[in-house]
Amino acid sequence: MGKTSKDKRDIFYRYAKEQGWRARSAFKLIQIDEVFNILSGVTRVVDLCAAPGSWSQVLSKKLWEPSENKDEVKIIAVDLQPMSPLNGVIQLQGDITKLETAQAIISLFGDKKAHLVCSDGAPDVTGLHDIDEYIQSQLILAALNIATHVLMNSGTFVAKIFRGKDISLLFSQLSIFFEKVSIAKPKSSRNSSIEAFLICQNYQPPDNYVPQKINPMIADLKVIREITDSEVNRNNNPFVVCGDLRSYDSDMSYPIDENYEHKEIVQKPTSPPYKEVLERLSQISLKHEGFSINKQ
Ligand code: SAM
Repeated sequence: MGKTSKDKRDIFYRYAKEQGWRARSAFKLIQIDEVFNILSGVTRVVDLCAAPGSWSQVLSKKLWEPSENKDEVKIIAVDLQPMSPLNGVIQLQGDITKLETAQAIISLFGDKKAHLVCSDGAPDVTGLHDIDEYIQSQLILAALNIATHVLMNSGTFVAKIFRGKDISLLFSQLSIFFEKVSIAKPKSSRNSSIEAFLICQNYQPPDNYVPQKINPMIADLKVIREITDSEVNRNNNPFVVCGDLRSYDSDMSYPIDENYEHKEIVQKPTSPPYKEVLERLSQISLKHEGFSINKQ
């Protein structure tokens, strides 16, 4: 496969490199914001599952860079993986399903709560839809648990989901905490992907709801119990396509002209899972042209 093959197949990948974004995901957040205005008037954000950092880049560019009072802007980015630094972004390396990570985020916020909690979290996909969807929903519940601690009333929660058969239960769970729950499909997200984004607006936890500092992984049991004990509003949740409908289709291949210059990705992974393999491979020396291989 040639160097430019992915550039042809994936126009948003190509544009991400040209425009300096660390990942094509940047366009998803930008397109969601175009329709839902989630960044308007926002200064305090938690970006969960943030590596390699293109959503944090968007947040830094739109909230921190133009701000005249940079001390007021707080962007906290959390991921299992380390991330290269970004202006105006505080980074935390940790697992969002672990209590200690949730506590570290909560303590960084102090008494000034967040306007927005977003999560673009995705597990390593197994290809088995039920399992992938289950793990994804655990990530959403962990993110929601963190949001219930740090989000201010009227705040917004955005989370990636895999659309599956149990989605209405998740909607019901979220409708307990938010006045409006929509599902968004940005144009930059492939139609062939089951990925979509929950846009939960106007955080209004139930009266007397006290966020629990329990392991977020078991938060779902509590939430499910609340659902069965209470009247849940099962209103239709709007499905909204974000981004210019006349613009590029992320499932299409687009030709590149002959003067096109291939660009390397903006930020190589700092510590990818394949790092060890690459290091081991570099220790294998091709001794002779006859390909005698010296493995260490
Ligand atoms: N929004 C990011 C961006 O714009 O660059 C891309 C996020 S990427 C699609 C999904 C991320 O979820 C990965 O970096 C992965 O490490 C992270 N992730 C998955 N499970 C996690 C967990 N339990 N805790 C923290 N991060 C997690």
